Amino acid sequence: MSPRWMLRLSSFLVWRRKVDRRRSFTLYDQTVDNRSQILLGSENMQLVFIRICTRVSSLIVQRCESFYTGLPQVSAENNTELEAQLSLSELYSAVMSLQNGKAPGIDGLPVDFYKVFWSVLGEDLLEVLRDSLERGRLPLSCRRAVITLLPKKGDLQDLKNWRPVSLLCTDYKILSKVLASRLRQVMGSIIHTDQTYCVPGRLISDNITLIRHVLEVSGSLAVDTGLISLDQEKAFDRVEHQYLWRTLTAFGFNPCFLAKIQVLYRDIASVLKINGGLSAPFSVQRGVRQGCSLSGMLYSLAIEPLLHRLRSGLSGVRFPASEVSFKLSAYADDVIIFVNQQRDIDVLKETVILFGSISSAKVNWLKSEAVMVGEKLRGRLSLPGGLFWKSGGFKYLGVFLGNETFVSKNWEGVLEKVKGRLDKWRWLLPKMSFKGRVLVANNLVSSALWHRLTCIDPPSSLLCNIQRVLVDFFWDRLHWIPQSVLFLPKEEGGHGLVHLASRGATLRLQFLQRLLTGPADLVWRPLACCLLQRFGELGLSSSLFLMDLQQVNISSVTGFYQSVFNVWSLVNRQRQGHSHSLYWLLKEPVLFGGRFHLPDWAGPSLSGKFCSARISTLEQVVELTGPQLDCPAGLAARLGVRSTRVVDRLLKHWRHQLTGQEMSLMSDYGDGSLLPDQTDPFPEFTLSADLKDCSGPLLANAAGCSFSDAAGKTLYKLIVKTLNKKTLNARSDTPWRTYLGLAPEFRPSWESLYKPPLCKRHADLQWRILHGIIAVNSFISVLNVNVVDQCPFCVHRETVFHCFLQCSRLKPLFDLLEKVFSGFKEFFTKQVFICGFKYTRQHKHKCQLINFVLGQAKMAVYMSRRRKVEEPDDVVDVKLLFVQMLKSRVSLDFSFYRANQDLETFQSVWTHDSVLCSVEHDQLVHGHVLM
Ligand SMILES: [Zn+2]
Repeated sequence: MSPRWMLRLSSFLVWRRKVDRRRSFTLYDQTVDNRSQILLGSENMQLVFIRICTRVSSLIVQRCESFYTGLPQVSAENNTELEAQLSLSELYSAVMSLQNGKAPGIDGLPVDFYKVFWSVLGEDLLEVLRDSLERGRLPLSCRRAVITLLPKKGDLQDLKNWRPVSLLCTDYKILSKVLASRLRQVMGSIIHTDQTYCVPGRLISDNITLIRHVLEVSGSLAVDTGLISLDQEKAFDRVEHQYLWRTLTAFGFNPCFLAKIQVLYRDIASVLKINGGLSAPFSVQRGVRQGCSLSGMLYSLAIEPLLHRLRSGLSGVRFPASEVSFKLSAYADDVIIFVNQQRDIDVLKETVILFGSISSAKVNWLKSEAVMVGEKLRGRLSLPGGLFWKSGGFKYLGVFLGNETFVSKNWEGVLEKVKGRLDKWRWLLPKMSFKGRVLVANNLVSSALWHRLTCIDPPSSLLCNIQRVLVDFFWDRLHWIPQSVLFLPKEEGGHGLVHLASRGATLRLQFLQRLLTGPADLVWRPLACCLLQRFGELGLSSSLFLMDLQQVNISSVTGFYQSVFNVWSLVNRQRQGHSHSLYWLLKEPVLFGGRFHLPDWAGPSLSGKFCSARISTLEQVVELTGPQLDCPAGLAARLGVRSTRVVDRLLKHWRHQLTGQEMSLMSDYGDGSLLPDQTDPFPEFTLSADLKDCSGPLLANAAGCSFSDAAGKTLYKLIVKTLNKKTLNARSDTPWRTYLGLAPEFRPSWESLYKPPLCKRHADLQWRILHGIIAVNSFISVLNVNVVDQCPFCVHRETVFHCFLQCSRLKPLFDLLEKVFSGFKEFFTKQVFICGFKYTRQHKHKCQLINFVLGQAKMAVYMSRRRKVEEPDDVVDVKLLFVQMLKSRVSLDFSFYRANQDLETFQSVWTHDSVLCSVEHDQLVHGHVLM
């Protein structure tokens, strides 16, 4: 029986249970091909049909079995955890992990609703969900998804250019989230390491890194390798539920947990939203549910039998110096197969067809791609379905991989795209706060680069060019301060604008973090070691990072690893104590700045001898001298040194460096009671910014971090300072430092400048004043000779210091501020006025109000000055303006909150100590200092 025929019958089988007998035969008549005509005529048709069906289903079961044999099993312990009853705390953490502001499902209740009223409805929801799981049926709202269409690019007359999005109810999402977080715990134990989709701890970049390594290693070791990238048609939509349940059972999932998942998929229906109306519901038998937290993991599980069978059927490709052979790499339905023999291609073809017959998955060979590295095999391996071998490379998971010309495609038009995206925001730019500009530059524009930047090095000029465009966008004309200040975090006087070079370097450091301290079963590590061993002809891999790489010529490794080495040498690395691992002790290098590097008296000729004898680690020394390092003859002979005296002295030097514990590790190794364990963690390092002799207030706070568990953000911070140290060196954080005579340890309260309720534009003014970057006359007169540098109000030269602090017109304003401050039981000083009021969480409301008052006061100074410049004859009273501004903002907020019947919130923000205002009988009363 052909698989196609079987497939039809099997789907018919499922379908037949649903409809009445008469209609089933009409459909049978239409769908099944000629062979069925014979059946139709027979009187015992029903009987014959049942026989066929039984035979077919037993065939399907047989075929399934062949995919299921040897699948990893869920452990009994895990099963007990999976089947436990739902708990309130599980629901709570699920609700809290859902994102606010998403479109609700058919019941119209958004996530925010559940979060706000959790204390009221949590218990009830738990009861409803528990009850639903017991009965095996969800409430109707949970079973309905609303499908709505979103336009994609291109001609919207074509249905293909619309993306269907299904909206699920929040209670459904909560339940699926709970089950998903349980399922997540077991994914790693049953899904093979070469599938990374929805398995915690595995990354999409691992797949790309693996493919890149396969291409590089094949190229550099001249191992001909074919890579076949399978295109699966609508993979997520094609998963048959019956097949899915069979597969989950095959993984050994407890029936109880399986039943819980099945509840989520039982009798589910979708309604289509078109032109504002809803269609009649239609039932859904296939596909994992879009928007459901379980769907990704269910898909990974559904495709695993195929991959499992391929792993056992294929021979794969084995590279020299690597113990394992590489067969495939998968990220959800993006599967790549590595082949170098015809038999593997035949197995692949057969397996894919067979898998289609049990799961209705379908490979589109015409859309699939095949790439061959090397020329020898090209003619000898023939591909199925009209597929042909390409050379150069291909696009995998959004990244072009392959030879140089192919990789350069990753960066084609990137600069133009960045410019184009920024241009879309340019009309809004004059109205946009600095924070808004940074948000656009960092999150909407440059984030599109990260995925490619993780795996591929861009051309050196590209990042500089994009950086320039970003900085131009930030300043919108005039560049006031060096860009390196903008890259600093907000609490250190910058704005956190992304520094692309630092971001790129951070990604390399994170790559190294994964290579050295990542999971033990990292798929690409053997290949990375393969490439590293060729480095400097030293035959070392991870040990390289225990040496000082600056002393070694790094041109022999690939460009990507060169940039990894460069970043590693860029930061300060401090070994954290001595490792207790025998493995890493033996891996300690004896050359190039390693812990046991040759002492100075040994001279260059001896180190040359070590190099040519290829002895670079303690392990190799121990092999020749014994674990006690007490037999110089062997080493001397190997090095070709005539006198053992020098070698003996060297060994003595090394013995002195070993700690007591290390000596005992060595002697245990000597008598065979201890063996090196290569799963021991890599020696711990503390990384810190390498500032050399640069310093200054902007370079302070460069705290170190531990290498193995540092988050990307922490690494980024120290790299930003390292890369920008020259422009930040000895630069004052604020020009007010000298003017106000601030103590060196005093830091401006940068962070509090931006606290609400002060609006962002006012906060920006505070930030600019503190940086001294305001267009006052002393500044403008330099650019424009027609402007005199005098203050518009008095005879003095108008510097930023004069404008905001010195001018005698400000006296009444400062007197008022003094009164306001004393209302808050604080002292008003010039220093606080300019540098901001130190924010403490404990006195949050007071701090925020004081900051608000200061921001408004500075804005009053700024606006009154501008009015004076525009209308020199006007009488401008800065104090009056300030009071008006304060009062109008307070009144505005009051009206808003009163309209919302939420005066409580108003009071918590505005009425602290009744200084600015208070609320009496639901009426606003302004504070007496403002009268
Ligand atoms: Zn003045």
